[in-house]
Amino acid sequence: MTSETSCAAWRAIAVGLALMFAETGVHVAAAAPPNIVLIFTDDMGWGDLPGFTPESTIRTPHIDRLIREGTRFTDFYVAQAVCTASRAALMTGCYANRVGLAGALNHTSPTGIAADEELLPELLGRQGYATAMFGKWHLGMPPAFAPSKNGFDEWLGIPYSNDNTKYHPVLADSMPPLPLFDGDEVVETDPDQRLFTQRFTQRAVAFIEKHARQPFFLYVPHVMPHVPIFASEAFRGRSAHGLYGDVIEEIDWSVGQIVEAIDRLGLADNTLIIFTNDNGPFLSYGSHAGSSGRLRGGKLTTFEGGVRVPMVARWPGHVPAGRDCSTPLMSIDLLPTFCMLAGAPLPKLEIDGIDASPLLVGEENAKGRESLVFYAGSELQAIRSGRWKLHFPHKYLVVNGETRTDGKPAGYGRLAPQSITNSGIEGIASRHGYVVRELPLSLYDLETDLGETTDVAADHPDVVAHLTTLADHTRTSLGDTLTDHPGTENRPVGRNDEGP
Ligand code: MG
Repeated sequence: MTSETSCAAWRAIAVGLALMFAETGVHVAAAAPPNIVLIFTDDMGWGDLPGFTPESTIRTPHIDRLIREGTRFTDFYVAQAVCTASRAALMTGCYANRVGLAGALNHTSPTGIAADEELLPELLGRQGYATAMFGKWHLGMPPAFAPSKNGFDEWLGIPYSNDNTKYHPVLADSMPPLPLFDGDEVVETDPDQRLFTQRFTQRAVAFIEKHARQPFFLYVPHVMPHVPIFASEAFRGRSAHGLYGDVIEEIDWSVGQIVEAIDRLGLADNTLIIFTNDNGPFLSYGSHAGSSGRLRGGKLTTFEGGVRVPMVARWPGHVPAGRDCSTPLMSIDLLPTFCMLAGAPLPKLEIDGIDASPLLVGEENAKGRESLVFYAGSELQAIRSGRWKLHFPHKYLVVNGETRTDGKPAGYGRLAPQSITNSGIEGIASRHGYVVRELPLSLYDLETDLGETTDVAADHPDVVAHLTTLADHTRTSLGDTLTDHPGTENRPVGRNDEGP
C-alpha cells in the first residue's frame, strides 16, 4: 500500500476547515451537518477489492470511484472479527466487551444491546437526522432490542445472520424460518435471498430521495457476502470469479446506485459516504468466501485478515480525494467522528472511540491513537501500536483441510455438529470446518511483514514490554479471560429472559 499522499488543493481546504474549527470551537460541519451514508458489507475479504488488492479480478468500478474521489484508509480495523461484536462496536463507539456483546447472536439468544447504550442513530436522530437501516441488524432478536427501539426511524432487513436458516450447513433442521422485518412487522419468512442486495438498495435510494432536504443517516449493512451467498439474476454468472465475484459486483452496483442518487439530488458536497466491512472472510467456505489477499487468517481470528478491513470515505470538498491514510483507526472511532460532524453530544456513558475527523479531513499533523486492542470474545488476544502488533498466547482457527466449491465448509460430511449455543472456539470449529491451533507470544512488524509470518519478539524485548503494559491498561478496565482479569468497567448486556 502506498504511504500517505495528498492532493495539495484538498489539503488546503482541510487546513482551512481545521483553522475555522480552532477559531470558533465549532466544527465547520455543525452549521450544515452532513448526511452520513454508512455501507457495511458482511464477511468481505481484504483481497476482494481491486482498489485494495490490485490482483483481484472482481470488477468494482463504483468502489474504485469512491477511492478516486475520496480517501482510502489502509489501516482500518473492526473491533472483533465476528458479526454481532463488530456491529456492537460500530453502533456504540465501544469495544464490544464494554457493552457486553460477543460472538454472533442467534434465534435463541435472550441478549442484545442494552437499553442504556446510546447508539449512532439515536445520537444523530436527536440532532434532527432522519435515520434508516436496510440490511442485517444482529444486536438482539427480542423486540426490546429492535432497530426501532435504538433510533432507526425505518428499517428493512433480518435480525441475525442469513445462515441461521434452512441453509445452515450442519444445523439446518433445527433452524426456524428466517424472518424479514419491515419496521417491527415480519413481512415475509424465508425471503428470496437472491433479491436482498437489490431490495436494500431500492429502499436506500427511496430513503435518500425522501429525505433530500433534511440531514439523514443511512446505514446499509448488506447481508451479503455472508454465506450462503446469492446474487440476483442480473448478476449471476457475470464475474470472472464465480458466484462470490457476482455477489461483490452486485454490491458494487448497489454502491453505484446510492452514489448516483446522492449526486443526482445535488447532495454530494454535503454527504459523507463510507464503505467498509464487518470482518474478514469466512475462509472455511472456500470459493463461497472472500480472500484475505496478503493478510493472514480471516473471520474469527485476530490476525490482520480477520480484523483489518477495506475502508473508503468520500465527501467532496472535505475529505481529500485520491489520498491514502495509513494511520490505524477502528470502527469504534466512527461514532465520535460522526457526532463531531453532526454537532451531536457524545453518549453519556464512557466510550472507547476517538474523534477521527481531523484524519478524515486530512488535517496536517492529525494524530491517531497510541494503540488498538483486538479481542476475540472476552480474550484480549492482540494489540497494535504503530508498526508493531503483539499477539499474546491464544488459540486460533485454521481451515480444516481442503476447501470446497459448493458453498459447504471444509470437512463437510465429517463435521460433528454441536449445538448452536456452544459459542466456544471448539463449537465454532465443529460447525464451520476449522481446527484449533495455539499461537505463542508473537511480535510482528506490520511495516515489513503485513502477513504476520515472522515472530520478532526475541529481537525486541522493549517493544514486547511496552505493548504488554499498554494491553494491561485495557485488561484492567475491560477484562481478559486469557489472563484472568475480570474487568472493572464492563457494562451489563441487555437481557430479555422471556426469550425471543
Ligand atoms: Mg460478518
